[in-house]
Amino acid sequence: DERHPSQPEYLQATKEIAKDVIPIFCNNESYRRLNVFKRLCEPERIIHFSVHWLNDANEVEIHNGWRIQHSGLIGPYKGGLRFHPSVNESVLKFLAFEQSFKNALTGIPIGGAKGGSDFNPKGRSETEVMRFCQAFMGELQRHIGPHTDVPAGDINVGSREIGFLYGEYRKIHNRFGGSLTGKDISFGGSHVRTEATGFGLIYMLRAVLKQHKDEIKNKRIGISGAGNVALHAALKSVQVGGQVISLSNSRDCLIKEEGFSESAISWAIKNKAESDNILIDLCEHHGGDWHKDATPWQQPMDIALPCATQNELDKDAAAALLSNGCKYILEGANMPCTNEALDLIEEKGIPFVPGKASNAGGVAISGLEMSQNATFKRATYKKIDDALQDIMLNIHQQCVEAGTADGRVNYAKGANIAAFRRLADAMVAQGV
Ligand code: NDP
Repeated sequence: DERHPSQPEYLQATKEIAKDVIPIFCNNESYRRLNVFKRLCEPERIIHFSVHWLNDANEVEIHNGWRIQHSGLIGPYKGGLRFHPSVNESVLKFLAFEQSFKNALTGIPIGGAKGGSDFNPKGRSETEVMRFCQAFMGELQRHIGPHTDVPAGDINVGSREIGFLYGEYRKIHNRFGGSLTGKDISFGGSHVRTEATGFGLIYMLRAVLKQHKDEIKNKRIGISGAGNVALHAALKSVQVGGQVISLSNSRDCLIKEEGFSESAISWAIKNKAESDNILIDLCEHHGGDWHKDATPWQQPMDIALPCATQNELDKDAAAALLSNGCKYILEGANMPCTNEALDLIEEKGIPFVPGKASNAGGVAISGLEMSQNATFKRATYKKIDDALQDIMLNIHQQCVEAGTADGRVNYAKGANIAAFRRLADAMVAQGV
């Protein structure tokens, strides 16, 4: 706490993992000798740069840019770029720390990183977004590469932004290939990457339900967010028989008591890129009850899938969910539940799966995009979708093996311990 007094998100993430892995650390002489836990908490490298670019009014704007290379122990640094006014060093350090643990669970040799800027692309023209991406990559390019660090998308960085970033990288380096993932399918992208995080979340949900001798059919599912993760989680939920009763954005919430139809969700996915506010457009075209300044968590639901952003589900929201009979909570976003919310969920004992396990599908398919780029081959949609299902089942199994006690699976503990062991063993093997 003393070393990072102004980094609450980073401290929150490290403390959440510490409670589960400190006993493992203390019982292992090699881990203790090599000071593994403290070393795993510290990012290997923090790169901070300024981004100077020209807006449409020909004025120079300046933003902060960062890349946090957290751990390269088990593969090239890997993790998304976020463009959002809330981005700062604490947020990116927590995301990079979580990413290292998440990537370790995928079984693919990728390290952990995160990056981004406090630039907000919302309300900017396409040429402004392009010029910003080019200026951002002008600086970032010297720190990344297919065997060094492979960024991807995150909040407000979708296929359009990845295209602009990749175009600038390719111009400077004269290299085609795996320096970024999330590329369009026409220039080296992978099938299923866009869908992977949301679909993977529902594959994990199915595994959790099966473990508890339950099924998804007719379950009321509350989803927050209306971005890439939320909409694809909603689509897959409906495709496998669930009833999605909510979507939201940073201000408001759209409730559909009878559940969104598959065609309404597909419509939102198709029109999202061209829309200034896809939730309002969805409401206008497909109906629903608009709740101003609200989140979905006051509604009765069987399953809650927070898919928007960190700390969006607090203690009061968790209390409302639990008193309304919510039976499962799986994180689609990174760290959407506050630690106080987690304490309540833990007390109640319902199955809870942390983002590092349940949203790992996206980065896993990014890993497969890297191997497709390296071999100049493209796998079919079905092959990648099958691989995603296998990866999510494997992560579920790791959580069960490391997190079961007295017949109950503690998914958060299982994920923390399984990922920690993988990273700690690599650290011990590689020495100081
Ligand atoms: P998008 O930018 O596509 O969507 C983000 C959504 O969250 C939008 O609906 C946005 O609403 C909403 N949102 C943003 N800030 C807040 C806030 N403070 N409170 C409530 N809602 C908010 O991002 P993604 O869907 O890609 O990412 C969502 C989450 O999933 C993030 O935590 C991300 O790190 C995580 N994640 C994403 C992966 C991916 O593959 N994309 C992989 C793994 C994790 P608005 O439009 O109003 O801003």
